[in-house]
Amino acid sequence: MKFSGKNVLITGASKSIGAEIAKVLAEYGLKVWINYRSRPELADALKQEIESEGGKAATICFDATDEAAFVEAIALIVESDGELAYLVNNAGVTNDKLALRMKTEDFVNVIDANLKSCFIGCREALKVMSKQRMGSVVNIASIVGERGNAGQTNYAASKGGMIAMSKSFAYEGASRNVRFNCVTPGFIQTDMTEVLKDEIKEYYIQNIPLGRFGHAKEIAQSVAFLLSDSSSYITGEVLKVNGGLYM
Ligand code: NAP
Repeated sequence: MKFSGKNVLITGASKSIGAEIAKVLAEYGLKVWINYRSRPELADALKQEIESEGGKAATICFDATDEAAFVEAIALIVESDGELAYLVNNAGVTNDKLALRMKTEDFVNVIDANLKSCFIGCREALKVMSKQRMGSVVNIASIVGERGNAGQTNYAASKGGMIAMSKSFAYEGASRNVRFNCVTPGFIQTDMTEVLKDEIKEYYIQNIPLGRFGHAKEIAQSVAFLLSDSSSYITGEVLKVNGGLYM
């Protein structure tokens, strides 16, 4: 795959899916900006791993829900590299409980963490990428944003919102050659799914046509495709990476 741009910012990239995205994009020759908000040691170790393989990486600390910090981070990257070619809005959280027991603040906090942070990133990227007349953004939504899930009304609303919002950004960015797409992972083996009860994991494995959970690298490869020149005529799309669980 070819990339016309040179760098990428990945939010929540110090571990799990974000870290795999950083590794894969570095293998394709991009300079990766690894965002983290806690555990700097993980971000530093990832940077070193990428550099030891001959890749280019930098770490950048900010909370993606903090508008001023996110805006400042993008300005710093543009000042440092002269561009921001690609953005992956990957940072996300869950706070699962049945709706009848969910407090409004449980709902709003997940919307802020997942949807608001993604909005800030998309808007700031669009400003920079419009001037460049090129850029590509991939938002990591979820299968849950497509089909809903008991116990996840907050998370489903945030991820469904990301999908609709990405399509709206795709309309606004198209005339400037700025593309916005989503990847919707199914069940991927990470810390986020590790906490699920064994019976829930077993239920899903039995219902996934490909018969297994996905690997973070499989999400990363899809992200690379949607950022790259190989998908230059694709915008406003939602790429399901779920082993066939939801077609
Ligand atoms: P994870 O292992 O929990 O990692 C999430 C990362 O996001 C963590 O590094 C976390 O940092 C970071 N993060 C969260 N909020 C942040 C914020 N406000 N600012 C900066 N960083 C923040 O989750 P994952 O499984 O890799 O998930 C990555 C993305 O894929 C998420 O958007 C998730 O919703 C989506 N997804 C995952 C699955 C799955 O099966 N795993 C399925 C569908 C969608 P801290 O360590 O500091 O909290």
